[in-house]
Amino acid sequence: MEMYYRSTRGGGDQVTASQAILKGLAEDGGLYVPVEIPKMEGKLEDYIGLSYQETAYRILKIFLTDYTEEELRHCINSAYDEKFDTEKIAPLVAKDDAYYLELFRGKTIAFKDMALSILPHLLTTAAKKNEMNDEIVILTATSGDTGKAALAGFADVPGTRIFVFYPKHGVSAIQEKQMVTQVGDNTCVVGTSGNFDDAQTGVKRLFSDPKLADDMAREGFRFSSANSINIGRLLPQVVYYVYAYAQLCESGALQCGEPMNVCVPTGNFGNILAAWYAAQIGVPMTKLICASNENKVLYDFFETGVYDRNRDFVLTTSPSMDILISSNLERLVYLSAGCDAQATAQRMKELAETGKYSITAEMKAFMSNFVGGFANEAQTAEEIAAVYEKTGYVIDTHTAVASRVYHDYKKRTGDATPTVIASTASPYKFSRAVLEALGKDTKGRDDFELVDELENISGVKIPRAVEEIRSAPILHKDVIDPADMDAYVRVRLTQ
Ligand SMILES: *Cc1c(COP(=O)(O)O)cnc(C)c1O
Repeated sequence: MEMYYRSTRGGGDQVTASQAILKGLAEDGGLYVPVEIPKMEGKLEDYIGLSYQETAYRILKIFLTDYTEEELRHCINSAYDEKFDTEKIAPLVAKDDAYYLELFRGKTIAFKDMALSILPHLLTTAAKKNEMNDEIVILTATSGDTGKAALAGFADVPGTRIFVFYPKHGVSAIQEKQMVTQVGDNTCVVGTSGNFDDAQTGVKRLFSDPKLADDMAREGFRFSSANSINIGRLLPQVVYYVYAYAQLCESGALQCGEPMNVCVPTGNFGNILAAWYAAQIGVPMTKLICASNENKVLYDFFETGVYDRNRDFVLTTSPSMDILISSNLERLVYLSAGCDAQATAQRMKELAETGKYSITAEMKAFMSNFVGGFANEAQTAEEIAAVYEKTGYVIDTHTAVASRVYHDYKKRTGDATPTVIASTASPYKFSRAVLEALGKDTKGRDDFELVDELENISGVKIPRAVEEIRSAPILHKDVIDPADMDAYVRVRLTQ
């Protein structure tokens, strides 16, 4: 079956998978969704014992039907290789009454690596297929995690360049060190004055400047984004839910065919939406538990059917979930409205204008397998300590939000279905908050000293990603005013 994609807001024609990946966002501002949802091929049993790469091939081929087998295997093998520190790529670890799916074993020790290590290859392959010969220039503003994962994914990928702008005084010391030590002739990391919003606004201005796009097109460059609404980031995330299910069957935790639950620490709603797609293609799944931190817009949404971003933004110890507009939710809203693009466009307009929209009772019923939950800062810290005391396993702050929400859910409902918790970051990425949760004094102590202490406590070797940056030379030193981004990009591309 040939797959096509269309915008959640109805504008434009249906496009192929490679065209959707190249475009990122549809021209009407909507998100691309598959027109029909395919089914997994073969029986569930067939997936038991497959390598991650083979699982990825079998799942991606049913969505990305205009890629050849050779192209897909090339993308998969270029992404999921020794950049990951385990051959399993995404191991499922049983601890106490839960299963932690470790999605942080890649280059930047956060789950964004799962998608951002393959996106550059999907993109460059898409460019070739569509006879687009320009060099692809990725422009990204980052508050920390996405920037590094995008840099690691695009570094030295032929036919691409990447610019990452980060607020010079708005990221953690480790995050900055990770970025400014990035190797790769095609990478460019730039500090900007002001905060993340200033950097983000600056990048948006670059994207919406037709003169810059024209001038650079004449030089053979085409701008693109690595942002989480690209369907090329969503689909690779479906793979690891199939893989987790196969691991549960293989270990005997489930009989093949019995359902699992998943619990996902959620920000932009990409990761948990991928789990929902996994259920649609045939993975038996009962509940999708959507875990939020104190920015609990999604919890309120699943409770009331009203999405309302009008509230204070809370800075938490799980910063990658500090989000008030969960962009990927638009896809679920569209599907729940019976693929009514006009109604979706209207709701998104309301969101832009008033900060809120509501869904109908029917749409709410469509989403009834989602359960919202949240954990506040104290509960998150308690969970890190509780899991450690029980099992000796150290989890990061984001994973802890999900773990706590799962345990609360289980207590409340008595649901004993085996549950996969998406473990989205290594505790080493958030050493300070993790050690504080474990009752250690971190005041005035250097980040690398904390990393060493965490190694002693967890018994897990310091990941290469952290070890490498300790002594790595600083390769990117430019700091600019966001107002000068246009001139900066022109010079760097054409010099
Ligand atoms: C991005 C991120 C999340 C949130 O994932 P979404 O797909 O945006 O919901 C959770 N945890 C970590 C560590 C992340 O980097």
